[in-house]
Amino acid sequence: MNNRQALLRRLPSVDSLLACSALQEQIQTYGRDLVVEAIRSQLELVRQNIRHLEATDISERALVNGIADFLAREEESSLKSLINATGVIIHTNLGRALLSKSAQEAMVGVAAAYNTLEYDLDTGKRGSRLAHASQLLRDLTGAEDALAVNNNASALILILSALAKEREVVISRGQLVEIGGGFRIPAIMRESGAELVEVGTTNRTRISDYEAALSDRSAMILRVHSSNFKQIGFVQQPALAELTALARSRGILAVDDLGSGTLIDTAQFGLDHEPTVQESIAAGVDLVCFSGDKLLGGPQAGIIVGKLKLLSQLKRHPLARALRVDKLTYAALNATLEHYRRGEALVNVPVWQMISRPLHDIRETAEKWAAEVGGTVLSGESTVGGGSLPGTALPTALLALASESPNRSMEQLRQTNPPVIARIADGRVLLDPRTVLPEQETDLLAALQSIN
Ligand SMILES: *Cc1c(COP(=O)(O)O)cnc(C)c1O
Repeated sequence: MNNRQALLRRLPSVDSLLACSALQEQIQTYGRDLVVEAIRSQLELVRQNIRHLEATDISERALVNGIADFLAREEESSLKSLINATGVIIHTNLGRALLSKSAQEAMVGVAAAYNTLEYDLDTGKRGSRLAHASQLLRDLTGAEDALAVNNNASALILILSALAKEREVVISRGQLVEIGGGFRIPAIMRESGAELVEVGTTNRTRISDYEAALSDRSAMILRVHSSNFKQIGFVQQPALAELTALARSRGILAVDDLGSGTLIDTAQFGLDHEPTVQESIAAGVDLVCFSGDKLLGGPQAGIIVGKLKLLSQLKRHPLARALRVDKLTYAALNATLEHYRRGEALVNVPVWQMISRPLHDIRETAEKWAAEVGGTVLSGESTVGGGSLPGTALPTALLALASESPNRSMEQLRQTNPPVIARIADGRVLLDPRTVLPEQETDLLAALQSIN
């Protein structure tokens, strides 16, 4: 009998492992069925190792450890918190905007107790959930009314379905954009039953192009902000006020999809000027839609602000019910908007805290990390991300770690608990303190130490 067969024979049975004292607590915690599955899987793994002649510890202790690891992995959610050291503030793959402390608390509050989601305390009767964010949004943007839906893509679908079905929507060829994940404005328009009328060229569209395209079948002029790309050179688009005046003179609607949408001027941080919601409303646009979890820094939502009459049409549309947001979103959205109303968004909304974080502060943090784990501090750039402000960046300081295999180091960092996401440049692993929360620093340094 060869050595392999001898080893295979010495493996304990499922029953004997189930009876061993080291696993009794696991059976209490996870239940017998899951522990049996873990034992089978661990035994199979060990058998495979033996067959492939890999060194394998088949002691009871090693088997029990493997079984415990399997059970712990089973329990782990696929949606985990992690450390974003990429310096991309609104990272689409890493959950976009982080919520402020009071937004987090507000969510917990409405999750844990009954609340006034659809209840009017003054009358003791049914109230409307749609009222929740609307007063704050009116105050902050100057619009007549507001509505929140699931996300900005839903906002567009609702606007087009309710106000342009089987009618024409005129849009510049320079604005037929893909918003990400394969979703394109023309496809969204088709799904909503609106007919797309393209005007102008990729780089230049004039007000006369719009004029020539309007007909009695036109329902609206749609402007889509080029939020995730930048056109430079021989380019031209009419001002929003011109589009609005034209729409008004023909008795049709002017709608502005701002994409990110911001209430604060980004130019004060050395970034490009991202058009603000207030500017669009002041330009006389009928409806403006934007995301809740990009530059607003709130929960995932699509926010529509504009004319009272149009918003009441939108609220009555059947899709409004299908696209409505839940109490957790309202709680977080209101708390986020409240920061803006109090003029404290820069200090309390994480997206703005990160954008406005002073360079010397970031550099100090990078130097502190270097003192602990080695590496050098470099000048670099952070980006806003989330399909906002393409081509502009914020100066930052980076911790650069030399590595024989940067890809391998990145992989190891992804396996730590919590996982760390970094970036690579010039054969080095780079970590940007701008997007790392102060309370994550200890874990980050432990992770960096563990991979060296
Ligand atoms: C991001 C974006 C959207 C989609 O917003 P979501 O909130 O992700 O649905 C739509 N239009 C533009 C211009 C965008 O930038």
